[in-house]
Amino acid sequence: MSSSSVIPGLEHLSAPDTARRGAEQASEASSAADRQRRADELLDGLNDPQRAAVVHAGAPLLVVAGAGSGKTRVLTRRIAWLVTERRAHPGSILAITFTNKAAAEMKERVEQLVGRRARIMWVSTFHSACVRILRKEIDRVGFSSSFSIYDSADSQRLMSLVLNDLDLDPKRYQPRAVLNWVSNAKNELRDPEAATADASNHLEETYAAAYTSYQRRLRDANALDFDDIIMTTVHLLQGYPEVREVYRRRFRHVLVDEYQDTNHAQYALIHQLCADDPEAARDSATPVPGDVGGSAGERVGPSELMVVGDADQSIYAFRGANIRNILDFEQDFPNASTILLEQNYRSTQTILTAANAVIGNNEGRKPKRLWSDAGDGERIVGYVGDDEHDEARFVAEEVDKLTDDHGVRPGDVAVFYRTNAQSRVFEEIFVRVGLPYKVVGGVRFYERREVRDALGYLRMLANPADEVSLRRVVNTPKRGIGDRAQACVAALAAREGTTYWEALRVAHRADGIATRSVNAIRSFVDVVEELQQMVAADERPDVILEAALDRSGYLADLEASDDPQDETRLENLAELVAVAREFADDPQAGPSADPTDVEAGTVRPGLGDFLERVALVADADQIPADPDGEDVGVVTLMTLHTAKGLEFPVVFLTGLEDGVFPHMRALGDRSELEEERRLAYVGLTRARERLYISRAVVRSAWGAPSHNPASRFLDELPVDLVDWRRTAAAQTSWSRPDVGSSWASADPRPALGAPTPAGRRNFSAAAARADAAKKAKAARPIPSLAPGDRVQHDTFGLGTVVTVEGAAEKSVASIDFGSDGVKRLLLRYAPVEKL
Ligand code: ATP
Ligand code: MG
Repeated sequence: MSSSSVIPGLEHLSAPDTARRGAEQASEASSAADRQRRADELLDGLNDPQRAAVVHAGAPLLVVAGAGSGKTRVLTRRIAWLVTERRAHPGSILAITFTNKAAAEMKERVEQLVGRRARIMWVSTFHSACVRILRKEIDRVGFSSSFSIYDSADSQRLMSLVLNDLDLDPKRYQPRAVLNWVSNAKNELRDPEAATADASNHLEETYAAAYTSYQRRLRDANALDFDDIIMTTVHLLQGYPEVREVYRRRFRHVLVDEYQDTNHAQYALIHQLCADDPEAARDSATPVPGDVGGSAGERVGPSELMVVGDADQSIYAFRGANIRNILDFEQDFPNASTILLEQNYRSTQTILTAANAVIGNNEGRKPKRLWSDAGDGERIVGYVGDDEHDEARFVAEEVDKLTDDHGVRPGDVAVFYRTNAQSRVFEEIFVRVGLPYKVVGGVRFYERREVRDALGYLRMLANPADEVSLRRVVNTPKRGIGDRAQACVAALAAREGTTYWEALRVAHRADGIATRSVNAIRSFVDVVEELQQMVAADERPDVILEAALDRSGYLADLEASDDPQDETRLENLAELVAVAREFADDPQAGPSADPTDVEAGTVRPGLGDFLERVALVADADQIPADPDGEDVGVVTLMTLHTAKGLEFPVVFLTGLEDGVFPHMRALGDRSELEEERRLAYVGLTRARERLYISRAVVRSAWGAPSHNPASRFLDELPVDLVDWRRTAAAQTSWSRPDVGSSWASADPRPALGAPTPAGRRNFSAAAARADAAKKAKAARPIPSLAPGDRVQHDTFGLGTVVTVEGAAEKSVASIDFGSDGVKRLLLRYAPVEKL
């Protein structure tokens, strides 16, 4: 022992140590103060029940509340709270949202609250989360981890093959109808055996047979369809307790937004992860037979679960969503607590009263007391158009007025409609008047033939067993491998028990195949093998895509065509390559890439990741991210279904006609009508400050004009809340002036054909003027532009031309408007002037 040693136990009294200790205490005190400040910040701007939900610990928690009461805000804050205050590892959090877009927004908000750590959390849709689990675990159930995901069009193609094989009359058994039935079975976790056992009549037996054979073919193709993604994950967790334990240990916190729209399979998934006794799920199917089962070792306690939702906003019953999941939460998770939120922070009282009045017509719901202290605000504005064009023109003009007179930006405005097809009319007029907009969903970019062909190439490259994709492209473009040759190859595959791809490689062995076909197949196989080498070398998805389009002769085929549509197809393919390039450049973009690897920069998103993203995005009713990354300042057009969870200062709810909204299909069915009414509730409650409701007296549906009566939901709005700007259709050839006598000014919705009330005609005059102005605009010469030219645009101001494609009527210019971003404009319509 050295002389400098001190008496044991009293070391801390030596001078330097005391100083250090003091500093530590000070820093602990300051970090405690920091923590307190952070905690306060996280709870800032929350009311009492919202705070209670954020800090709740332990038993499962249900937050039920009407629209705009802060459910999503609570969920987001809770994630931040878990990470910072409860020291949860970000990797132990699983948050489920309804769309990829909502997931991205939530992630961004959490990242703002807790920083970069947020990146390794799983914030995603059910589908994305399950795909990630399956990529790791699916080999246990006989798939390889490179499985393909079939979207609805692929599924239909496969089902057609199945029905054909079963020799079923295509008129009686339509692939769509059978698939619908199969999808319901999957959402209820009934596998083909269960469905066959349950079948109680000939029709069901036939469906079950189709289901069995469809599943077999999916398995042969190493592919899953959308519903399989969830069902397979649940079966995996049920059948392999050791796998379940891995995920129960991993996800200590599970949070689900929009819980009212979960279906049985999704409920079962949550139950597997969070229940005390995961084997006791409500009507759960028995675990997959033949599985190892066995002991899972020591079990961990249940994970903490929070779900938030609103039974009044359940709008996906047609996809198997089950309101019971929210109504029965307390039975499903004994010892659950429930928190109610009653203050709405989104909308004015006027908007809220209107929405409450409408939803109040649904039977058997729990009444809510939702209130707002935002004041009454503006009255709701109503408009009745002569036809859908008139309605759209009203919307465009009103947006214009709001931007001029009330400081509203186009980005504050959303236009909702019931079905995708209704967007076209709005797009037309918006393009004409130069109002910037985007359509969310409905563009169905990924359903265009050329896009699907291109993806078909990529998919069969990623997974050669994917027969649907391979057969889609084997003779596209036409290369002399006709139906007969394909049938010979299929027979060979069946005879030798190999995949279609393997059979193609040895096509010369096929019976009865023509030498010409064998040669054509040989060169196709050569091209594919060459492309496969690029995949094996981990080449970027965009590079592979371009090579595939080029070497397959696909581009050359389109370029040689003089069909104007093929020009658009080329543009769409260019767009797809751009999407792939953007994806490859963004290392955060790969949903299946392990986030920790991504963070370390060791993994680049590959072809498989790209295909996964595309499959998931295409389903979620979304368009790919705008290539400009430009997301503000444009009017959003979307269906009511897509609008769920979102909010906008100004909302136009259009097409309020019986037969349109509520949808024709729902008119004779009370429960479907109630679902439509919930959809109306969703639509009305998206608005923060201004709400417009409109309808058209005549609407062309599939070419034929139809006269639809006003939507019954309009009747349900309190009369004094609505300021009808125009209630009658203008005099038209089909109107009968005598009917007008029944028109009373107190009735907000006069009968069809009522004469234009005096004093309202000036609107028609204005409309005519607007029309004339637009015609003049349309007739003006198309500016001839070249890259580098300076231009002036009515809305975006000064810009510089970047590129010009196409000629004359079809010329499209990309113009850089500085802070407004780069816009692609069709010059025939765009209000631009060359300087
Ligand atoms: P929906 O049912 O439509 O999904 P929601 O219940 O999820 O709605 P949020 O979107 O979370 O509601 O919140 C609605 C709006 O109210 C948001 O703009 C949110 O920021 C705001 N908000 C929520 N709680 C508060 C609060 N305590 N104070 C101020 N604003 C709030
Ligand atoms: Mg929400």
